[in-house]
Amino acid sequence: MSKRKPVFNVHCHLLNFRFVPDKMTKLLAHIPEDIADDDWFGVAAGFLFNVIPGPRYNRIRSFLKTYKKSIHKVAQDYVKKSMKNARIDICVPLMMDLEQASREPKDVNVPYYRGNGESQISLISEQVRRFPWRVFPFIMFDPRRQDADKICIDALRNKGFIGIKMYPALGYSPSCRVLKKTSPAAAVRLGNLYKYCGDNQVPITAHASVGGAYSTERDSNRELDVWPLTEVSNWIDPILEHNLKINFAHLGGNYMHDTDSKRVQSATWRRQILNLIARSRNEKGFGTVFSDISFHDMALGGDKRRYFRELITLMKNSDYSPGILFGTDSSMISHTWSESDYIKPFRKYLPPKMQTRIFCDNPTSFLFDNARIPDAYVKFLKSRLGDPLPEKDWIIKKNGKYYIVT
Ligand SMILES: [Zn+2]
Repeated sequence: MSKRKPVFNVHCHLLNFRFVPDKMTKLLAHIPEDIADDDWFGVAAGFLFNVIPGPRYNRIRSFLKTYKKSIHKVAQDYVKKSMKNARIDICVPLMMDLEQASREPKDVNVPYYRGNGESQISLISEQVRRFPWRVFPFIMFDPRRQDADKICIDALRNKGFIGIKMYPALGYSPSCRVLKKTSPAAAVRLGNLYKYCGDNQVPITAHASVGGAYSTERDSNRELDVWPLTEVSNWIDPILEHNLKINFAHLGGNYMHDTDSKRVQSATWRRQILNLIARSRNEKGFGTVFSDISFHDMALGGDKRRYFRELITLMKNSDYSPGILFGTDSSMISHTWSESDYIKPFRKYLPPKMQTRIFCDNPTSFLFDNARIPDAYVKFLKSRLGDPLPEKDWIIKKNGKYYIVT
């Protein structure tokens, strides 16, 4: 088998509507009359219209149909169709624990976590076994959840997860010092998780954009309210204290946004994230900072020439080029674009060497330690698939250990 480097998508989601708390969708519901066919469809549309601005009607209909499928089918379609068409080899699904942001946390169809039996965590864990060497999921950590630290560490050790997703905008500070003031128990869990991640160099992806999902409380000032929780500077203490390997998702968001406040805020975060990327490579002990460029609709719209000019300028700068990661944010983008639509301009406008960096080399260094697949992941695969494990073009085996081709 001829070996080659893989193409990564470091930011996607495997979701359906059974993964979203009812209360949250209902509170968020802003349902355009003509889309509200029946109950679930209205609720679904309400949720989506809040997460995703300006979608197109027909595409959203088929998009919503996807969300009605079982997670097995969602994953099957994503890996076998979307990734195949886009020539993406490896995906990193990020889990979403929305229960802590819901007023009635028990109001969910499939619980995020359950000791035994079906849960969102068990369902995503199964996709690792179904698609070996292709699906490398991150588990979401919300410090407000009881035993969140233990649940996440167990998932990393025993369930095929390789990293942590955090989403402070759902209602907590990622700084132990700040969180301690309102919730000492949550701050302890947060500290435990950071320590584990730092000690084992487990990658963390943190939401860092002006857009996104928030809490169940619905009001128009909500976005402004949660921005302080998303502040990039909140992370300086944890990075310094635990030498974290961290990806700031979305690089601040759409910095060409036509709303003044969003444009200013995302441009500010973008600058701050880039400074952290550079600092982490020039200062020992300041972690390893990355940023993914998922949900950058600028790359596909009227601003695309400016977008790629500026991305190329970044990639020419050796302070930043090792830190930029490719991601799409599927299925959050699939109301408008397929995976192959999304990756197309990156293949067209970026020089090949820069493509290799953001599609392969940088994701490999973010996700793995010297390209080595974590033993826990390999053990999890073997426990389900036996030994020897199936071969893949982008995996090599050396002295019993498995590596990404570099
Ligand atoms: Zn996302």
